[in-house]
Amino acid sequence: MQNKQLFTVIFGLLLSHFFKAQVTAPSYHSPLGIPLKLSASFGDLRPNHFHMGVDFRTEGKVGLSLYSIEAGYVARIKITPLGYGRVIYVNHPNGVTSVYAHCTKFEKSIQAIVKLYQEKNQLNEIDLVFEPQQIPVTKGQLIAYSGNSGNSFGPHLHFELRDTKTENALHPLVHGINIIDQQAPVPSKLYIYAIDQNGYYINDKKIAFPVIKKGTEYTVATNKIIIPPAFMDGTNKLLIGIEGSDKIGADLSTCGLFENLLIVANDTVFHSRIDTVSFSHDRLINDYCDYHEYKTNNKKIHKLIHKTHNHLDVYKSDPLKIINLKGHDSIPINIQLLDAKKNRSTIKFDLVYRYTLGKIVVDSKPSGLYLSPDSSYYFEDFGNSITLNALSLFEPVKKDIIITKDKIQLGKASTPIFEGAKVTMTPIENTPITKQYIYLAGDKDQKEALKTQLINGKLEASISSLGTFKVGSDFTPPSVSPSNFVAGDTSLKKNSIEWKVSDAKTNISSYNLFINGKWKVLEYDKKNKLLIHVFEPSEKGLINFKLQVKDACGNEALWTKKIRVN
Ligand SMILES: [Zn+2]
Repeated sequence: MQNKQLFTVIFGLLLSHFFKAQVTAPSYHSPLGIPLKLSASFGDLRPNHFHMGVDFRTEGKVGLSLYSIEAGYVARIKITPLGYGRVIYVNHPNGVTSVYAHCTKFEKSIQAIVKLYQEKNQLNEIDLVFEPQQIPVTKGQLIAYSGNSGNSFGPHLHFELRDTKTENALHPLVHGINIIDQQAPVPSKLYIYAIDQNGYYINDKKIAFPVIKKGTEYTVATNKIIIPPAFMDGTNKLLIGIEGSDKIGADLSTCGLFENLLIVANDTVFHSRIDTVSFSHDRLINDYCDYHEYKTNNKKIHKLIHKTHNHLDVYKSDPLKIINLKGHDSIPINIQLLDAKKNRSTIKFDLVYRYTLGKIVVDSKPSGLYLSPDSSYYFEDFGNSITLNALSLFEPVKKDIIITKDKIQLGKASTPIFEGAKVTMTPIENTPITKQYIYLAGDKDQKEALKTQLINGKLEASISSLGTFKVGSDFTPPSVSPSNFVAGDTSLKKNSIEWKVSDAKTNISSYNLFINGKWKVLEYDKKNKLLIHVFEPSEKGLINFKLQVKDACGNEALWTKKIRVN
């Protein structure tokens, strides 16, 4: 047994060595049969995640053939109402997995395997993993058809490359997908923030400076940024943020920044390159960018700082190398922006601080008044509690916490959390616990139902932001109404039957369709609130439809009807 393991390890090492050598120059087959045009690139900043692949345009259409970029085997197929919708993963012998998301359907023989599994297990949403011999594919083989399923707003192909072993997302344009790119990134604005020795904001202020082009390089007005003394607020450290875009491809699609360097007086203090991202680190983006600006003004500001606790693979320089003002300073700043094809832009200016710095405040956010990202916390009252682990917070948060019988209130819903935070709440009295759920009460009266579990007689939910949390109850079944026909119809001449579904308080948690008593596959298009069943050729004549839809609190809507299908 031990010998076998050893053999596997050595063989694995040999393989990975061999494949590393192979990976350097792959010549992949195109995933599409039309010229590749991007609508978004890898690493583009999104709320709560980096864009983990590239989006290829599909001429505004669904149903374009998708081809496996390399020989290998179908390793995974997933169907979900949101996210990637219908997605297919192909593992290749070079240690890379290619991913094709938002499909409308899979290739005929693959589709048949999927449908068989769905019907046998009566599951609409699936996550299937396959062995190498089950569905082998050749390079350029048709595997699926492009679409708009899941969290896609307009037909396109979301395409990813991943390291098969670690499942880390790889930048397709750095790892073998070739797209012409001759334009260097274009910076638009610089931002200055005052920070402390941990890289935390001193105040929530920032100053913006438009970037201007002078000759072949970029700078700011008068080639310098003069720091107002009051702005520093008792610190001598500052952080630069940058906003800009990069045009990629023959059609000059606008994408995000890729690689940023900050050189202070010939010393490279910061270097980031969004070439690979681990899915488990994805939410750290909320600290990579200026989350508040993103949420409130849709600004994509890349912060040129590597904070100690941020483990994103995109940081290529040591943490906390910070710009330090000493007083009467003029510091030459050089920022380099590079794209995946090494096109480069340079921004040069001087940071000027004309005053003698006052007394430096070392602890700008004292632990007595603030919750620190380094510590874990547990607050409880009236049986309601909130738990924050070390690293749950990105920035210190004011210790203004209110826990009453009815709510837990800490910070704002615009304060992001990385991971490991939860709220536990006492159920409302004289109300069945299964009908209760925790929700995040928004600043403007919105209520966002959280995925709530019942644990030891309490309600519990993981949280991804701070804010005000309360308990609600839901006794109302989801609403179900005909969508591609009207309620009075007794016959239907369509190739599908569709219903509009929604739940006023929580979410749709299950949906099952029975045709003449037999379970049938349903597609849930969550963004359009639609349930869709595509008729099989045999589904003709007078048919008994029975549709069951449940919400997260188990309230069930039942829709039944006899309709003649032509
Ligand atoms: Zn995408």
